[in-house]
Amino acid sequence: MRLRQILCVHRDRSLPPLPTKVDLVVVGAGVVGLAHAVEAHARGLSVLVVDAAPRPSGATVRRGGHVAVTTQASTALACALASRERWLKLGRDAGFGVRECGSVVVARHPDELAVLDDLVAARAGDAVALDGRSVAERTAVPDALGGVFLPLDLRVEPAAALTAVADWLGSHPQAHVAWGTAAQTFDAGSGCTLVRTARGEVVARRVVVAVGHDVGQLFWEVGATVERRRRQLLHVEPPTPGDPGAGARLTTGPVVVGPTTFLRDGAYAASRAVGVVQDRWRSTRPDVLEHDVHLTLCAQPDGSLVVGDGRMPAGPGRSEAVDHVLLREAAELLGVERLAVRSRWSAPELVRTAAAERDPFVVTEPLPGVRTVTVTDGLATTTALGLAPRVVDALF
Ligand SMILES: Cc1cc2nc3c(=O)[nH]c(=O)nc-3n(C[C@H](O)[C@H](O)[C@H](O)COP(=O)(O)OP(=O)(O)OC[C@H]3O[C@@H](n4cnc5c(N)ncnc54)[C@H](O)[C@@H]3O)c2cc1C
Repeated sequence: MRLRQILCVHRDRSLPPLPTKVDLVVVGAGVVGLAHAVEAHARGLSVLVVDAAPRPSGATVRRGGHVAVTTQASTALACALASRERWLKLGRDAGFGVRECGSVVVARHPDELAVLDDLVAARAGDAVALDGRSVAERTAVPDALGGVFLPLDLRVEPAAALTAVADWLGSHPQAHVAWGTAAQTFDAGSGCTLVRTARGEVVARRVVVAVGHDVGQLFWEVGATVERRRRQLLHVEPPTPGDPGAGARLTTGPVVVGPTTFLRDGAYAASRAVGVVQDRWRSTRPDVLEHDVHLTLCAQPDGSLVVGDGRMPAGPGRSEAVDHVLLREAAELLGVERLAVRSRWSAPELVRTAAAERDPFVVTEPLPGVRTVTVTDGLATTTALGLAPRVVDALF
């Protein structure tokens, strides 16, 4: 297609004009989009990030902020390790907190300990076995049989981190971040693409489309490769455990992860003991399996906890049954009678429709010079900063 002369139409004159020409347009300012923008900017490329929302509000900001490095496998592990280094650097550069607190995976039954033994053997040095007392000393979990400490895991506060990264990036002369600017269509030309947005048109040498669960609205054929679901989370008041020091350990200590993670993270797939745990849950805790619970406790600065997460059933409403299981499992782990809910919400989740694919990354080229980048399985914050260099290498 012959590119016609570019006229930027500024519908809202209070907003600065979009640049007319850049090396890379990134569509979507969630963690995946910003990861690509930061990577391209670090290579001296000019970048425009456009996001339809007026502020960070996608899937990234609706979760606990656990960067779960050590329990990934294969490509996801390589990306998670690279991502970890980039989070730490970005935290320093953009001025937001990245807590090197690690995480503790808790076992309360011998078969769960057997799974963790396999993890310690597979991840020598990066997974440290703990006895029950050491778990209690590091966390607010009083009666664990044992556990494992994963020192490489990080915590970021997603909304604060995204806002800081977008502001920091946009403060550079060669980088622009335009909120409230939806991308609408893409016309590939020779060596560049015309991107039409709600605020005008931009010519880009390359384009990355990282719109998470909205990918099907721009490229339906890519949307067909992923299934959109939702997961429920809860924000609970600071728990009041019997041990007075436990509150402080929760706030400053590691992320606490329940054994339901065995069914989710790739590093556990090789352990035969997982099947034994699953069989026991089938008879003793079927609702944990039924609601696909993945118990993670991420403490907030005031001691309150984000408790995640379980699968929301199809339909408009959240499920009381899922909240009930989440609250029961979290209270049991913390040894408290009940947890008081502060707020409840849900967040979009993507899973690959081809179940045989273990790789969580869906990277496609729907047009020459345009890549869609979608991270499934709830792993974007963990892996996107490590995936971006691979995509940018391939693009330029
Ligand atoms: C319950 C739950 C817990 C999770 N926990 C973790 C965890 O502990 N660790 C982890 O690594 N990951 C976790 N995740 C996954 C992670 O939150 C998501 O994978 C990730 O946030 C997706 O990022 P994204 O950038 O692809 O999408 P988003 O954050 O949704 O960003 C997409 C952006 O694209 C914009 N957009 C859409 N359409 C357009 C358009 N046409 N033009 C311009 N902009 C557009 C949207 O406004 C949005 O801002 C969790 C997910 C869930 C549901």
